[in-house]
Amino acid sequence: MNRSVDPKLTANLSEALRHLERFTAGTVAHLIAGERVLSASGETFEALDPTTNETLCTVAAGGPAEIDRAAKAAAAAFKPWRDIAGAKRREILHAVADAIVARADEIALVESSDTGQPIRYMAKAALRGAENFRFYADRAVEAQNGLSLPDRDHINYTMRQPIGPVGVITPWNTPFMLSTWKIAPALAAGCTVVHKPAEWSPLSAAILTEIMDETIRAHGLPAGVVNMVQGLGEAAGRALTEHPAIKAIAFVGETTTGSHIMAQGAPTLKRLHFELGGKNPVIVFEDADLDRALDAVLFMIYSLNGERCTSSSRALVQRSVYDAFSARLAERVTRIKVGHPLDPATELGPLIHPRHAEKVLSFPALARQEGARIACGGGRAMGGAGNYVEPTLYLEAGAAMRIAQEEIFGPVLTVIPFEDEADALQIANDVSYGLAGYIWTRDVGRAHRVARDLEAGMIWVNSENVRHLPTPFGGVKSSGIGRDGGDYSFDFYMETKNIAVAFDSHMVPRIGA
Ligand code: NAD
Repeated sequence: MNRSVDPKLTANLSEALRHLERFTAGTVAHLIAGERVLSASGETFEALDPTTNETLCTVAAGGPAEIDRAAKAAAAAFKPWRDIAGAKRREILHAVADAIVARADEIALVESSDTGQPIRYMAKAALRGAENFRFYADRAVEAQNGLSLPDRDHINYTMRQPIGPVGVITPWNTPFMLSTWKIAPALAAGCTVVHKPAEWSPLSAAILTEIMDETIRAHGLPAGVVNMVQGLGEAAGRALTEHPAIKAIAFVGETTTGSHIMAQGAPTLKRLHFELGGKNPVIVFEDADLDRALDAVLFMIYSLNGERCTSSSRALVQRSVYDAFSARLAERVTRIKVGHPLDPATELGPLIHPRHAEKVLSFPALARQEGARIACGGGRAMGGAGNYVEPTLYLEAGAAMRIAQEEIFGPVLTVIPFEDEADALQIANDVSYGLAGYIWTRDVGRAHRVARDLEAGMIWVNSENVRHLPTPFGGVKSSGIGRDGGDYSFDFYMETKNIAVAFDSHMVPRIGA
């Protein structure tokens, strides 16, 4: 990388350094009951700069003691937060969105530096975080609304009430946006929150909690409505899932971690919501608009460093167009701009962590062994010590190969040929995951048939992943339990109560009279 020639990169680097100073100057703290605190044990961990793998900052490693303090703070703040009017909650959550917008540049620069995600995507992700707050701010007013279900003798009506303090555990891919997606509906529902961000991406969570805490307290509410404990999954994460004051856990992460959390939460009967891994198919039929399909296939796996749960990591391409489509894919993949995440021209930045880069780089040998063809990539990029990997394309892959079955979670596309609709569906469904599916065809009937029969929670037809916030988001099979989005999030964060009122109290059957 030649930093000297690019003035935009130089400017972004110096702005990022300015914003990172508060983190590099000391140990990054937890935020519990409105106070920045370090761990009682004094334990810390290092967050790495993905471009060099040098230490970016030192972070307090929380454990059961910090989780206990945070859970108690969230429990103490629950009633004051629950009992404010919905209109007031709307006002506060819009104020949070305003504060995010005001700090969007800072959030994007910090997030890029911490995760290696290209700044071109992180600038939008910060604003999407604000949109998530606005969306749920507007729904806060009606969150408790229920149904009227009268029968002849009783009027029944339902109302929803917030479940209590909840735990939110998030992963390292686009952590700011994802955290807002989980926390905004929890707050709009009237729940208080303890957030445990991923240990590989601790920084934007510190900004988000600071914004929420300051805004909520500025509106006269007590501290403790939102709390954040940094730390490792096995320590802080585990303690959160086991804490009796925490009524529900919203978790986004790997499938195996979801299994652990289910076991950990069982003794305290935690309500659980899981958004887990994916190995999502994009099915390209011969009658598709192949130019648009090509753009979508590339975007949905090589943007966001391929570290995206809904990435189309398996392209299923009809045999009749397979060779031509694959050749065009290969030509475009070799032109993807790998570079420093803060360079606005960069399309693919370094992966988050050396351990993750090693995992992604272990697959090319496996692909060769399994008999797939590596059309491009497969190695390290950029030289140096950063986690840069080449965008990689596997062709002529078989559906049973590990490169076609396992979530690689990097800029790696596995392209599998298919013969007809039945074959495409068989291959698409023959994985343990079921998060998203993409279909490219001009045949309307086929689009609906395949959408119906694909085993996935979300299907996009002739489109990349475009989110509409009222729609349900979530997966089937090993990709998750439950749905986010719109009112679905309120069903998770709230309890539905039924109230039955008799029209005539004299109708009670009499015994012992
Ligand atoms: P991960 O499961 O390793 O970690 C996620 C979070 O869980 C982290 O905060 C971690 O500290 C915590 N954790 C780990 N062990 C824990 C335990 N025993 N108890 C409690 N918490 C624990 O996942 P990751 O590697 O950070 O993220 C990548 C994964 O997330 C991928 O599989 C990706 O597909 C998935 N993901 C899914 C969605 C979705 O919407 N379905 C969205 C984004 C990411």
